[in-house]
Amino acid sequence: MSIKNKLRAGITFLFLMALIAAGLAAYYLNRLSADSKDILKDNYRTLIYTKNISEALDNANRTYTVATQTAIIEKNLIAQEHNITERGERELTGDLRLNFERYKTALSRHEPTSTYSNTMKNLLYGIMQLNMAAIERKDKTAANTANTAVIIVSFIGSLCFLIAFTFMINFPGYIANPIAELTQGIKAIAGKDYKKRIAFSAKDEFGELADAFNQMARQLDIYENSSLASILLEKKRIETIINSMHDAIIGLDDKMFIVFVNKVACNLMGISEEKLVGEYAPDIALENDLLRNILHADQTRMKIFADNRESYFTREVLDVVNENTSTGKVIILKNITEFQQLDEAKTNFIATISHELKTPISAIKMSLKLLEDDRIGAINAEQKQLLQNIEDDARRLLQITGELLDMAQIETGKIQLNFGSTHPQNIVNYAVQAIRFIADQKNISIQVDCPDTLPTVRADLDKSTWVLLNLLSNAIKYSPEKSTVKVSVQRASNNSIQFSVKDHGQGIDARYLSRIFERYFKVPGGSPDKTGTGLGLAIAKDFIEAQGGSINVESEIGDGSKFYFLLPVG
Ligand code: ADP
Repeated sequence: MSIKNKLRAGITFLFLMALIAAGLAAYYLNRLSADSKDILKDNYRTLIYTKNISEALDNANRTYTVATQTAIIEKNLIAQEHNITERGERELTGDLRLNFERYKTALSRHEPTSTYSNTMKNLLYGIMQLNMAAIERKDKTAANTANTAVIIVSFIGSLCFLIAFTFMINFPGYIANPIAELTQGIKAIAGKDYKKRIAFSAKDEFGELADAFNQMARQLDIYENSSLASILLEKKRIETIINSMHDAIIGLDDKMFIVFVNKVACNLMGISEEKLVGEYAPDIALENDLLRNILHADQTRMKIFADNRESYFTREVLDVVNENTSTGKVIILKNITEFQQLDEAKTNFIATISHELKTPISAIKMSLKLLEDDRIGAINAEQKQLLQNIEDDARRLLQITGELLDMAQIETGKIQLNFGSTHPQNIVNYAVQAIRFIADQKNISIQVDCPDTLPTVRADLDKSTWVLLNLLSNAIKYSPEKSTVKVSVQRASNNSIQFSVKDHGQGIDARYLSRIFERYFKVPGGSPDKTGTGLGLAIAKDFIEAQGGSINVESEIGDGSKFYFLLPVG
């Protein structure tokens, strides 16, 4: 039966019991009142009538007249004649009437009445006796009715109370116990105890609820087991990958607790995985220099003593983002020692080669100068042109080897600066003079704007001139014939002087601007001849930054480029 119907039945039953108890009480009260009414109506009134008659007889000739006396007796006798209820009462009343008539006749004849009045008194006594006995009997009946009523009503009342009491004791538990058990079940599920089941034997709503709950727990159990197994498998797979990597990997959660570390990271830090995982990283970093550097270092390149030698690592920090919120980070230390060694070997090789090439190239240039001299022998126009070509190539070759050598020096940290205080005009004049010949060949005019009033700069004259020369050389290279290139020098805001070279050439695509100062970078399809090394601007940047300045570019396709660098006033 459903809980709804059970509740309905229980309450209806209680209601019926209360109704029965109330009905019985009403019934017995009615009976009691009928009993007492009987006594009152039937017997008590007879007693009054007989008492009145007997008083009238006793008071003859004393308080009221004979006429009044007979009238009272007549009136009460008639009433008594209409109130005959007991057996034998009718006969006695009849005799009373007879004697009363005789009494009245004796009175009218003035004969003695005492015989009749005595007989009447006896008769009245007889009637009284009869009614007294009846009252006693009826009183007993009423008492019996009252007793029966008390017993039955008490019984029904007790039965109602018992049932209501049992209902009161059991009903809250009947509702609350399954709810409590269900609450326990839900808590167990919330605590991931998917083995939890609920057993309700009743086939009511709670039974259905228990079935639904158990079904849910079963499904969760199946899901948990299947997804847990696959998650564990994935975890194993990822751990294997992480451990087989040659880079050091450290995973941190959003509160800086170490979630995982691979073997390489453990070896580098000299701490076992067990002592790292689950620990607060800054705590470990207090006693571990390497972890401290890894957590706080700003530089991406790190030198660490590992594998019994000085090793080089690059540090990369990846944010673990889940639904737009960072849930931790993964720090990767990539071992670049081998690349570093190869890079050093390359730089040394370039330095040696370019250094070695400089001498023979200079010798070639020298020989060319001699060949051009008429005193050695006349050469025809065709030969002269060939010699000119060779000289151009030799000059270019010398420039390239010079750049390579500079680059190698920068990379090995052997860049040497001779600082001095120099007027910007010196730098500009040297550079413009050196480039004028090439500019003239393309009919390009160089406009210079460098006021005398400018303060001196603290710079390495050679290196700064080299940079400006390089910028001018590029400007001429990438400008059309008969155009102008403008060199401007002016004061910049932060106590420095700005040197700028503006051309009206092809300009540079915006997407390449950020890479223009990278080593060996050349704008794809940007160079009219393929001779450039892509090193000029990279060297210029290193030279300028080594002097405490900065270099930058503004350019737009079709509108030309403006390269500018800043040097500190000094
Ligand atoms: P390169 O020896 O190739 O000139 P640079 O480092 O001097 O090497 O220049 C790098 C690249 O920048 C060049 O290949 C060229 O594509 C681009 N570039 C440099 N200066 C200019 C300029 N004034 N106008 C257009 N492109 C330029």
